Amino acid sequence: MLRKIFWEDPYLTHLDTEVATVDGDAVTLASTIIYAFSGGQESDHGTIGGHDVLAARKEGGDIIYTLPPAHGLAPGMKVATTIDWERRYRLMRLHFAAEIVLEIVYRDLGPIEKIGAHIAADKARIDFARGAPVTPELSALSTRANAVIAADLPITSAFSDEAGGRRFWQVPGFDPVPCGGTHLKRTGEVGAITLKRRNIGKGKERIEIFLADLPGPAA
Ligand SMILES: [Zn+2]
Repeated sequence: MLRKIFWEDPYLTHLDTEVATVDGDAVTLASTIIYAFSGGQESDHGTIGGHDVLAARKEGGDIIYTLPPAHGLAPGMKVATTIDWERRYRLMRLHFAAEIVLEIVYRDLGPIEKIGAHIAADKARIDFARGAPVTPELSALSTRANAVIAADLPITSAFSDEAGGRRFWQVPGFDPVPCGGTHLKRTGEVGAITLKRRNIGKGKERIEIFLADLPGPAA
């Protein structure tokens, strides 16, 4: 089974590994640091044996990477793999920002149903089923989320079920949260965030999350 090094060490940017299978453009590895879209977190950009990874998708417990057609790789070959760390670290920061905002929304605005989420490298969003706009609560949510970040709390990430590939994270003061994404070590790494509410249709509320040190929301 594929060993997911991005769980063991989400800060690793280079890994020497071995090609497991090749089926045309589709390649699998013995172990990997290259995350595939899951739980709303976008796939990493990276390279396998010097070839750009064009796509990455989960299939069961494995990840299938699409490479350019003339990759020339074969099963058993040793390959160097890399990820675009600047992009991944933004994804990790925005992912955990979304985790914190979500937990605070559940705690302070609950019961409320999450109906979608997406983590990109420039912003994250969480969608909720809710009749009333979150606008009046947004400032308080932002203050509380930024307080959790500023407290620089340790983040525990571990398996809840190793055979089943199920993981969770936990921060002191919060319940454990199931998630198979790549998590930071401390909340302080997120840095200051700003929140923005978007109207996405009747009965739906979107909260967008931006990192204060990266280009902000378009007006
Ligand atoms: Zn997560």
